[in-house]
Parts: sequence; C-alpha cells; structure tokens
Amino acid sequence: SGAKRSKELRLESMSFDQIGGQDRAKQELIEALDFLVKQEEIAKLGIRPMKGILLTGPPGTGKTLLAKAAAHYTDSIYLAASGSEFVEMYVGVGAGRIRDLFKEAREKAKKAGKKSAVIFIDEIDVIGGKRDGGQHKEYDQTLNQLLTEMDGIHSDEAPRILIIAATNRKEILDSALLRPGRFDRHIGVELPDKKGRLHILRLHAANKPLNEGINLERIASESFGFSGAQLESVMNEGAIYAMRENSETILESHLAMAIDKVMMGEKTDRESTA
Ligand code: ATP
Repeated sequence: SGAKRSKELRLESMSFDQIGGQDRAKQELIEALDFLVKQEEIAKLGIRPMKGILLTGPPGTGKTLLAKAAAHYTDSIYLAASGSEFVEMYVGVGAGRIRDLFKEAREKAKKAGKKSAVIFIDEIDVIGGKRDGGQHKEYDQTLNQLLTEMDGIHSDEAPRILIIAATNRKEILDSALLRPGRFDRHIGVELPDKKGRLHILRLHAANKPLNEGINLERIASESFGFSGAQLESVMNEGAIYAMRENSETILESHLAMAIDKVMMGEKTDRESTA
C-alpha cells in the first residue's frame, strides 16, 4: 500500500540551519508554521485552518529538506510520498493509497504522542494536473481523494495534519488544488544566488578535509545556476578527485574539475532525454 511505501522519518532531525540559502523561503515557511502552532487561538477566532503549503521551484533546490525541517520545527511526525507512487493501472488504487497515507499519519502521530503530522507529497503535479473530463480517470480519483481528505481536516482535530506538496510545474496544477482551504499558500524555492551557493557549499564541506587556502567564494561564483543538489555533487566529486590523486585534502583544482563534471553530467542527461 502507499502507506507502507511512504518513508517515515520519525527521528528526522533536519533543521532549518542545515539548509543553505533559501532565506526568503525559510522565512515564509516559518511564518506559516508559527501560525499552525497557534492552533487554539486560531480555532477560537474562527480562522480557517492552514492545511496545505505548496513549494514550487526547480529540482534539487531543497524542497524536501524544507518539508523535513518543517516537521522538525513543529515537532510533528513526518511522512513522505511522491505523486508518481500513486500511478497505478487500476482505478481506485491511488485513491486508496491517499486514504492510507492520512490514516497512517493520524495513527503514527497518536502513537508517538505528537500533536501534528506533516505529510510531504513530492511531484504533486503527477496526481494534481488539470482534470480534463475523463481521460485520466485514475488520476482524477486520486486527486479527488486528496481533496476529500484535505476538506476533512478541522482546526480542532488532534492530531492536526499539514500537507506540504512540491512541484516544479505549478502552471499545470488543477485549480481545485489551489482553492482557499487547500494549497492556498505558495512558497517559491528558487535556484540559490551566490551567497546561497556559498552557504550550501560550506554546509556540504563541513565533514570534508578542505585544503586551507581554498577559496570557496570563487567556487560559488563559478557554479552559477547550480542547484543545491548539484553543489552537493560538486563537493562529493571534488573529494573523489582528491582521493584519485592521493591527496589528503581537497584542493581548489579538485573542486574546479568537479564543477566541470557536474556541468557536463547535466548536459549529457539533457541530451539523452531530448
Ligand atoms: P526534487 O524536486 O528533485 O525532489 P528538492 O527540491 O526536493 O528536489 P532536495 O531533495 O531537498 O531537493 O535536495 C536534494 C539534495 O540536495 C539534498 O539532500 C541536499 O544534499 C542537497 N541540497 C539541495 N538544496 C540544498 C540546500 N538549500 N542546502 C543544502 N543542501 C541542499
């Protein structure tokens, strides 16, 4: 079942300071989460509970990390699933998986004595694309089930469920998903600027023996357009070059080669899928 396949990370310790750059996204997310935490006040004032946050932006920019950090910050259970997991041949299976996911979140939160659960759905566009009147019956049912589950969330419910979804194709999402009371909060998670890249490089260099004279700022300049995931690769590939050259520390030349390698890798990926 989808519930079984969803990865649970109850002891997840990802925190916002382990995420490089993304200052604005972090700030917007924390503001939204602070709102979630003030559940009782919100219920008293009759404010509609916040149910869904949509993270939008290119791949590898830290959307999954932000969702995990959100769970940690709010002391919630964390469950993750990907839109592509719900794609099945038979009508109704995807909808059943959505049902299981919510059920599992409630049960796990209760069992762990937590007040809330974060369900992260990556690639929401796979199930949440615009409905076109019967062509994709299976996706429609899965999406309808998600909407039903979200509509069923009440502010006085314990545990509270927050859905964080991610997509890099916001424009194809069905408008039903974006209505008030569903994913009505959107946070853009963009490619990091130079300062962000430097921060990400530093985070991923923390457990690596960098040569003392290394100029990470130069590496940050030269990796223009790289995502966080690509910067992580640069650090890793740099360490591999160091090992190949029997160097005990990672030199700037290793990182420069790693930048080229990651850039080339992207190119060949694109060519082979084109
Ligand atoms: P996708 O859309 O492809 O699922 P994503 O936006 O969810 O991507 P993540 O899965 O969060 O991206 O990031 C992948 C990996 O890249 C992380 O595990 C981490 O190693 C690195 N990474 C990405 N963004 C950052 C960041 N802002 N700070 C530190 N590391 C990052």
